[in-house]
Amino acid sequence: MAGSAALAPKSRLHCPCGKYLHAEDSEALVHLAQAHLAADHPHLVEAYDREDILWMAY
Ligand SMILES: [Zn+2]
Repeated sequence: MAGSAALAPKSRLHCPCGKYLHAEDSEALVHLAQAHLAADHPHLVEAYDREDILWMAY
């Protein structure tokens, strides 16, 4: 996957709803965040792709 190595490892995300998500690595965090969006914010699933999720992660 070209480009992924340039991203700083981000494994934590604080959802605006107050939920704190923590995963092993960026890839796992994206899956975790997408699962959380699907469960709690189904209207946002379409709005946030992996780039958006990683942008919000830290
Ligand atoms: Zn949330």
